[in-house]
Amino acid sequence: THTPEKLLVTGGAGFIGTNFVHYWLATYPDTKIVVLDALTYAGRYANLQPLEGQASFRFVHGDILDQPLVETLLREETIDTIVHFAAESHVDRSIYGPDAFLRTNIDGTHSLLKAAKKVWLEEQPGFAHRFHHVSTDEVYGTLSPTDPAFTETTPYAPNSPYAASKASSDHIVRAYQHTYGLQTSTSNCSNNYGPYQYPEKLIPLAISNLLQGKAVPIYGDGQQVRDWLYVDDHNRGIDLIIRTGCIGETYNIGGNNEQANLSLIHELCALLDARFPDSPHVPHNQHITYVKDRPGHDRRYAIDNSKICRELGYEPAETFQSGLAKTLDWYLSHPDFWQGDIKLFGSHGGNA
Ligand code: NAD
Repeated sequence: THTPEKLLVTGGAGFIGTNFVHYWLATYPDTKIVVLDALTYAGRYANLQPLEGQASFRFVHGDILDQPLVETLLREETIDTIVHFAAESHVDRSIYGPDAFLRTNIDGTHSLLKAAKKVWLEEQPGFAHRFHHVSTDEVYGTLSPTDPAFTETTPYAPNSPYAASKASSDHIVRAYQHTYGLQTSTSNCSNNYGPYQYPEKLIPLAISNLLQGKAVPIYGDGQQVRDWLYVDDHNRGIDLIIRTGCIGETYNIGGNNEQANLSLIHELCALLDARFPDSPHVPHNQHITYVKDRPGHDRRYAIDNSKICRELGYEPAETFQSGLAKTLDWYLSHPDFWQGDIKLFGSHGGNA
């Protein structure tokens, strides 16, 4: 077991990172989090502003590729745990511009590993540490409707530049554990949804479009299946892995909740109809517009989460219905988050 006291959270101003920081400090108020984030289009300092001034929180605006900066932070804050979220994360953007994905996701992860190796292994041998790498189920490729779900031993077969860059980073993390003895762990998680998700992704895009009376763009036939997990259920899984997971292991995290994109949108429409029976912008199922499918679009992802459930006692807390209702409530009470300057990419927000 490992007891994190001082954490460096990379990408902590993004969607999952923000939720992680709030979850962690609410759960472990006596620990300290240093967030390192480059504040790309996907990162928002405002997400973390309520924590400003607290002794348990520090924000550093910087790039994970800045190895001297990371080394300084590890030393000066005596960081014992890195939770690595920072990434370029949007599949559509990776299709049209893979360079940033290879730079941040591959070189950036490597740069962090080099800093961790130098400070933790070379300068402070014996120092208890943990490097947790947050990855995706997209590294496993695509499934047919009858294939069994992805397990930790499913061969890697990434299809998009995003997935390939994440797959690469997983392998580099693995190599640093095997070769140098860095104490690492990796989680491969299915599609997340919840508060603070940038409105280019499917669920927040659909919520903001429907609330504004606009159609929701759907790729192809809308039958792409994703295994949706509420973001805090992902973060509780990461928490378990950091504290009780085995060094060098990978864990799949998922919610046993497969949904086709089209039925997900129908469910969201039904939820909105129930909330706003008399509203002029009541969403209806005709508020869907079909757009040309994404090139190389994976058909189905599904996670077998039995390893983390069996070995670490993991269990998702939310059902899809409860998680979706919480998410909708959050977007309804935070219109500033999705009504501002949103930079959408291409014709549709995509899935991942
Ligand atoms: P996001 O795009 O919302 O946030 C990424 C954050 O990283 C942003 O705050 C951004 O400013 C920061 N960042 C980007 N490049 C950086 C750099 N070079 N240096 C420092 N910071 C940088 O992403 P997300 O959806 O929160 O995903 C977080 C992590 O979880 C990613 O590693 C992603 O691959 C993984 N993941 C996401 C999902 C999902 O459904 N969203 C599922 C499984 C795994």
